[in-house]
This record gives sequence, structure tokens and C-alpha cells, in this order.
Amino acid sequence: MGMRVETLGQGEPRLAIVGAIHGDEPCGAQAIETLLDERPPLRRPVKCIIANEAALAQGERYVDVDMNRVFPGSPTAEAHERQLAARLLDELRGCLTLSLHSTRSDERPFAIVKELGPATTAICPYLSIERVVETGECVENALVHHTPVIEIECGRQGSEQASENAVQLIREFLAVTGARAQPPVEKRVTSIYGLQEPIPKERAASCEVLVENFEAVPVGTPFASLDDTAVTAEETFYPVLLSADGYEEQFGYAATLTGILGDH
Ligand SMILES: [Zn+2]
Repeated sequence: MGMRVETLGQGEPRLAIVGAIHGDEPCGAQAIETLLDERPPLRRPVKCIIANEAALAQGERYVDVDMNRVFPGSPTAEAHERQLAARLLDELRGCLTLSLHSTRSDERPFAIVKELGPATTAICPYLSIERVVETGECVENALVHHTPVIEIECGRQGSEQASENAVQLIREFLAVTGARAQPPVEKRVTSIYGLQEPIPKERAASCEVLVENFEAVPVGTPFASLDDTAVTAEETFYPVLLSADGYEEQFGYAATLTGILGDH
């Protein structure tokens, strides 16, 4: 099992939609299946990719290694996801990409980009998201470092809502990029967060997160507990992708609130 790649519409695609970079986040693949079944009339061709079919079939994040930590990968690598990463970059060359994920941290969809550029600044306010996270150099070997992509966390991992959100976000992406003739949606005000650093997590039998993602955690505030011992903020930060069980060695990321999109 490898990678499913299908193009909708005529011509050389400059737009792509990717699901299942992580096999335990089925929302993107489900939404792509919906789109492929619908086959809507398109003004611009769109490449649709289900990235890791083997991991998706197993319901696991990956088979050998986390694909979103091994870009650019290599076609001759042994690890399944290193091969897939190289193939995916090949497929995405020349495309602006929407990549769909889901998370354990938050049910409200948000976008992740390396940094906002002209295209992403124009697109993000027309997606059903209230927040955009700029990774900068923070997440090593992630897809955002290697191709123009808007990654979306569509909602809670495995939830019906995440799949519905993914369908909606694909529709909005196709409308705002002119791939589908659709009435314009209202522009949203979107907050921009900048990732600063991972928040390391010690191994513990039990872990609990005590704060909300994207809401300021003042210095000195307990934001989590490990085996009933409080972990407190050493400086004020905004938590992003913070969860008790999303990652093994980190809680998530510390971010700053850096600006607003779409307010004029
Ligand atoms: Zn993911």
C-alpha cells in the first residue's frame, strides 16, 4: 500500500489537497473521498492525495516513523514514511497545498503555516478558522519547510465533526483559490500565533492539562500536572497543540500572539 493520487479537472494542477499524512487522523482522507465521489465542476485542476494508505488502514499515526518529522525523505530510504515523504514532495511540486490533520488538543479548526506569505495571507481569512499558527523554524523536518502548504487541524482526532469540518475547509479552499465557482464567503478575523518552542514533558504515569489552547497562561500558572505534581509556566505563553497525550516527550508548543489577519 502506498499513496493514492488522483487529479480532478483538466490540465496540470497548481493546487493540491492532502489527507492522512498521519494514519490515525482519518478526517482528511474521508473528506477527499467525499470530494472524489462528488466530482464537482472545477475551473482549475486539483490534485488529491491520500498520503499514507498503510498507516490509515492500520489506524496508526505511522508505520515506521512520523512522516511529518522526516521531510524531505528519500526514495531509497528503508523507512516507509521516508519514502512516502520524498514521493509526496515530488507530487506537490508547483502546487499550493491544503493538508488536513486532526488533533488531540482542540476541536476548533486552525491553520499551521511556516510563515504567512501573500498567498496564505489572502486565503486564510476565507477559511473556517479563527487562528493561524506560524511555525517558523520550530518544527523540524515538517512538510511546511519544504513546500507551500496550509496545514489545517480540522478538529478532534477521530471525531465526526473533524471530518465535516474537513469537507467544509476543502470547499472554502477551492472557492477562494478560484477552483470552484462559488459565492464569496464573509472574511473572518483571524489571530496569528508564532510558535516559540516545544514544551518538554517528563515521563509520568498520569498527565493532565489544566489550561485552554490559544489562551494566555500567565507566568507562574500551573498549566499541567504530572503524577499530581503541578507544572508551572516559567514565562507567560500561549499554548498551541497542548494535550496530555498528543506527543510522548512534549506537551505541545509555547507561542506568542503576534497579530491579526482580515480586520480591514
Ligand atoms: Zn497530523
